Amino acid sequence: MYDAIIVGARCAGSSLALLLARQGHRVLLVDRATFPSDTISGHMIWYRGVMRLKKWGLLDKVIASGCPPLQRISSHYGDFMLTSPMPFVDDVPVAIGPRRTVLDAMLLNEAAEAGAEVREGFSVTDLLTDGDRVVGIRGQGKDGVVVNERAHIVVGADGKNSRIAQLVNAPMYKEVPSITAWYLTYWSNLPCEGLEVHCRNQRAFFVFPTNDGLTMAALGIPHEEFQTFRGDIEGDYLQAARMMPMLAERMEGAKRAERFVGMADVPNFLRKPYGAGWALVGDAGHHKDPTPAFGISDAFCDAELLVDAIHAGLVGEQSFDEALALYEQKRHMHAIPEHEYTCKVARVHMHTPPEVLGLRAALRHNPADTHAYFSAIATVIPSEQFYAPANLGRIMQQAQLTPIPL
Ligand SMILES: Cc1cc2nc3c(=O)[nH]c(=O)nc-3n(C[C@H](O)[C@H](O)[C@H](O)COP(=O)(O)OP(=O)(O)OC[C@H]3O[C@@H](n4cnc5c(N)ncnc54)[C@H](O)[C@@H]3O)c2cc1C
Repeated sequence: MYDAIIVGARCAGSSLALLLARQGHRVLLVDRATFPSDTISGHMIWYRGVMRLKKWGLLDKVIASGCPPLQRISSHYGDFMLTSPMPFVDDVPVAIGPRRTVLDAMLLNEAAEAGAEVREGFSVTDLLTDGDRVVGIRGQGKDGVVVNERAHIVVGADGKNSRIAQLVNAPMYKEVPSITAWYLTYWSNLPCEGLEVHCRNQRAFFVFPTNDGLTMAALGIPHEEFQTFRGDIEGDYLQAARMMPMLAERMEGAKRAERFVGMADVPNFLRKPYGAGWALVGDAGHHKDPTPAFGISDAFCDAELLVDAIHAGLVGEQSFDEALALYEQKRHMHAIPEHEYTCKVARVHMHTPPEVLGLRAALRHNPADTHAYFSAIATVIPSEQFYAPANLGRIMQQAQLTPIPL
């Protein structure tokens, strides 16, 4: 009998397992994948996620894996390059983009070192129940032998199409269909010192350095164009890059290092994240468009919230129901505003409205507020703080009063 069984061992599941195991709980962590392995995903981690890596003692290891911390953010929306250096905040980089092959395997190994029992190549097919309460899992490893395992709580950290959520029939809410679709690849010899966003004519490139001297260049397009784009992925991707003058030149001198991968299934929704004997974390509980790159950071933050709840339930500080209800409430405090922000940001990158271009024009010769603008994107400051009407009014007014440098 385990304290917790966690299904899914990437950034949500392994973080949760690591934190629970460090508290001395008996954890079984399973995944049908084996590690290290990749998954279709960008991997920009913003400040609040990077802070978690630091707190858990993993940031130095991520950097030592050969992944450079990002020290600049720049964006070009067909107007001009707006850019700001983004120095470390309290010794923590504002962003870092480790490959999932590196990050997920590192989290899983740390969970195992902390005492979690890990079963890779193990698929969960069903739940064990006692009345309405989930009391365990049924699944099988590569040997095909079906086994049952029991626990006080079963957590689905098994991604947006969560099998656990399906089996418990977890209600979904705030559903917004996919807005964007994505084609991702890696380049060698594509110099890039920070995150660059290049956006024009319903095409948005997100470019940043990662492990092995490679640069990720992810292209977002309107969701409805995914299929037509598929006919000639390389041709359409390079055509989009040619629209971005400050990227095209460098891409011409670069070499594509990996195949393209595409993803169009990026819906926005929340799921009720708990019930009798079960909980959901990461994409299983809260999925959203990748444009603002919140998924991994959210997985870390929600894992921390869920650990508190599970610990409280296991040691009897609170009933599981009370503790998990609090988990949902705390998750909503960031997830609901973020859900709305995400949908807005995804649309802005496909159709940049005049007010966004106006704000950027006002920031052009204002390094302090440009830094604040990118700090909000990087989650160093709350976006509500930067986008407060009084703050935006002040920036616009200051721009009118500031003589434009020649
Ligand atoms: C195109 C794209 C770009 C993205 N870019 C970024 C970015 O730059 N930054 C960012 O923060 N986020 C990004 N994201 C989001 C990010 O990928 C997710 O938020 C993150 O992967 C969620 O992690 P997770 O652990 O919850 O789920 P997942 O990474 O989906 O892992 C779920 C795991 O569960 C396992 N599993 C599933 N079912 C079972 C089963 N029945 N039995 C056993 N195991 C099972 C799977 O094998 C998998 O390993 C992007 C996503 C996409 C699609």
